[in-house]
Amino acid sequence: MNGPLVPFRQLVLKVHSRCDLACDHCYVYEHQDQSWRNRPKVMSQETVAWTAARLAEHAKTHQLDEVRVVLHGGEPLLAGPERLRQVARTLRDAVSGVCDLDLRIHTNGVLLDEAFCRVFADEGVLVGVSVDGYAEAHDRHRRFASGRGSYQHVVRAIDLLRTAPYRHLYAGLLCTIDLANDPVAVYEALLALDPPRIEFLLPHATWDTPPARPAGHYHAYADWLLAIFGRWQAGGRPVPVRLFDSVISTTLGGASLTEAAGLEPSDLVVVETDGTYEQADSLKTAFDGAPVTGFDVARHDLDLVAGHPGIAARQRGLDGLCATCRACPVVTSCGGGLYAHRYRSGNGFANPSAYCQDLMKLITGIRQAIRPEGASARPQAGGQAPRHRHEIPAADLAELTSGFGGGEAIKHLQRAQRSVRRALVAAVHGTAAGLAPAATLEAAGVKGGWDLLTGIDATHPQAVDAVLAHPYVRVWAARCLERLQGGQAAQVTQPRPLAADLGHLAGIAMAAAIRAGQPARLPVPLRDGFAYLPSLGRFAVQGSEPAATVIVESHQAPAGAFTVAAADRTWTVTPAAAPPGGDGRPDRVGPAEVVSPADGRSRWQPVRQLSAPGLSVILEDADPFRDCYHRPALPRLDAEQAGRWERQFALAWDLIQRQHSAYAPGLAAGLTAIMPLAAADAGREVSATARHAFGAVAAALPADHAHLALLLIHEFQHVKLGAVMDMFDLFDPADQRLYRVAWRADPRPLEGVLQGTYAHLAVTDFWRVHRHAAEGPAARSAHSQFARWRAATADAIETLADCGSLTPMGRTLVDGMRTSIAPWLSEPVPAGADGRP
Ligand code: SF4
Ligand code: SF4
Repeated sequence: MNGPLVPFRQLVLKVHSRCDLACDHCYVYEHQDQSWRNRPKVMSQETVAWTAARLAEHAKTHQLDEVRVVLHGGEPLLAGPERLRQVARTLRDAVSGVCDLDLRIHTNGVLLDEAFCRVFADEGVLVGVSVDGYAEAHDRHRRFASGRGSYQHVVRAIDLLRTAPYRHLYAGLLCTIDLANDPVAVYEALLALDPPRIEFLLPHATWDTPPARPAGHYHAYADWLLAIFGRWQAGGRPVPVRLFDSVISTTLGGASLTEAAGLEPSDLVVVETDGTYEQADSLKTAFDGAPVTGFDVARHDLDLVAGHPGIAARQRGLDGLCATCRACPVVTSCGGGLYAHRYRSGNGFANPSAYCQDLMKLITGIRQAIRPEGASARPQAGGQAPRHRHEIPAADLAELTSGFGGGEAIKHLQRAQRSVRRALVAAVHGTAAGLAPAATLEAAGVKGGWDLLTGIDATHPQAVDAVLAHPYVRVWAARCLERLQGGQAAQVTQPRPLAADLGHLAGIAMAAAIRAGQPARLPVPLRDGFAYLPSLGRFAVQGSEPAATVIVESHQAPAGAFTVAAADRTWTVTPAAAPPGGDGRPDRVGPAEVVSPADGRSRWQPVRQLSAPGLSVILEDADPFRDCYHRPALPRLDAEQAGRWERQFALAWDLIQRQHSAYAPGLAAGLTAIMPLAAADAGREVSATARHAFGAVAAALPADHAHLALLLIHEFQHVKLGAVMDMFDLFDPADQRLYRVAWRADPRPLEGVLQGTYAHLAVTDFWRVHRHAAEGPAARSAHSQFARWRAATADAIETLADCGSLTPMGRTLVDGMRTSIAPWLSEPVPAGADGRP
């Protein structure tokens, strides 16, 4: 046993082991543990008396102020009102003078009538009722053995509880989630029953019997709950919702309010109808006999039970979690989820929750949403519990919402992105570890990569951050997660292609080791004949099999040096320039590196940089995960093509600094990569951004540097707003309507309108300024462009303002854009430039 004994404060008393319903999602009868078959139907008075005595003794020993007892089943009302009165009195009498008793009953409500209610009123028993939402939702599972639904019965019972004599007994509603049910309709139906509290329960699942979810929808439960959260939040949180309140509480540094999430030690024990102590009821879902302790009330006191290894395991907080959860940025709110949901045959409970991705998204979603209160922001990841929350000072936020954003504002977005990336990489490892055997992960390079990355992170976190800041690391992580959650374990156990994607973690870790100048050695898988070291470059190993690996080894001296060994050959790459730093910006000057023997010079393809005074970005034309723009990426550029980019980039940056200086500090702080795209037909300009690739802009090289300047300003608006959206909810996701905007022939979803408007505000500003510097036909064209985009953007701002689906932060953004454009609307343009005669 580890640590001091944690006393029990909650006891679940199984007063009746059978039920009058036959719910198909019932964990008592339908899951792995079938021990109910051999138990007495009703708990004997002797067992109740023993339990009451044990509880009183325990409360006295540990000087507890209060204990909670929940009368449970099966269906506890089957015990009958008088038997329940006797149970309640026995418990109260036993603890009288020792501590207070919070006595409750959880029922399906079918039998609840005046006789029961009178007993509960007399004995002070609060009543919680299970109901899954509206009639169809509830009756989907909660049926009698005949197949008939129980919704009408439960509503009648709740109506009775809501009447004056019993209203004070009404403790709340427990709702088991089913994705087939409309979440907001479920919430509204529950709300209509006027409950004092709502508790949403994830259906019990383990890694062996994963949660039912649509293929590829790896956070469907989070989306379901967040839809309710959005409505709950917008409605002023009209009723306590335990899971949401718990996440909010833990985000603010408070305690967890539910065993299903958080790091609080479990203080709950179950007593079955035969008097045996059991661990949490939910463990019935793991395997037959999982909750067993081997103790019973007649022979063993509660202190002995508290020392049981299974109970103690749920009391160890952070120390009781697997390494993935311990390193998770949301662990203080999640705590690895419900203990039972971590189970996987083979390694037991040393896993993240089978609902890991749902919990991650739910918690980050709630944290984003409550931030406008000044309460929260994304937590910092750092290989351990969060240390602080991200916030954007009001002045910087105002800059961003007005369509601009200087260096400081962008740095706030970068810090939040850092946490997102770290969380995603941890989730890739955690999810893979939960799905695949350790040997498979080892073979794929995942285990070695993770171990090395976390080791480097402990001593050189800046080097890890510098690699993770590479825009396509997050793309990689998101893609892996999508595939991991969309498929089953088989996907991981097949050598390709998912295992190959996961193996990229080894290259990420080695890149961090090289940046840190730390000696390390790992096999790095080859992709299409290249070993990739994100943010540094790639090494070609011709003639190797596609699935082969090379051994990459980093060295302490000279810092930044590494070797690549394939078959019987080894090459050494030594930086000739300053050793790599760790400030998150691309800082290696690849071509200056020395490769020996000399034949390795053509094999090592370092990431190149586009440099201009005050700004250097990488020219990312090789990373295997850069194909995230739904447009063809160009293969690695030759020297002449790269030179053209370099020249035009320098001119564009010069133009931005001279003419569009409001955008220069933000770009200087946040633009880190340009990814060359294939040109479109007929010289049409092509550019793009991707939500996961923060800091990167993809583009075909435009005809001239002015267009490149415009394109960088335009696309970086999308980069900024994407990062803002990672921190704040701007609109109600339930709004599925499409809206017309002037710059697209097809109507756009709300997020697209927001993104387009934010980008075209800057486009308008670009032409507004540029028209005064241009001459002749170019000036006329610039005036027309200004007039055109100003009108289109102003229209779109009003469309957004009128949509009725913006959050307070969304309204702040739209108001900010409206304030920015207002003075431009009265700026004169030459006759005909605005399209009017
Ligand atoms: S009412 Fe509860 S105990 Fe009864 S079958 Fe349904 S889920 Fe199981
Ligand atoms: S890794 Fe997953 S299960 Fe573990 S604490 Fe984080 S979100 Fe929860």
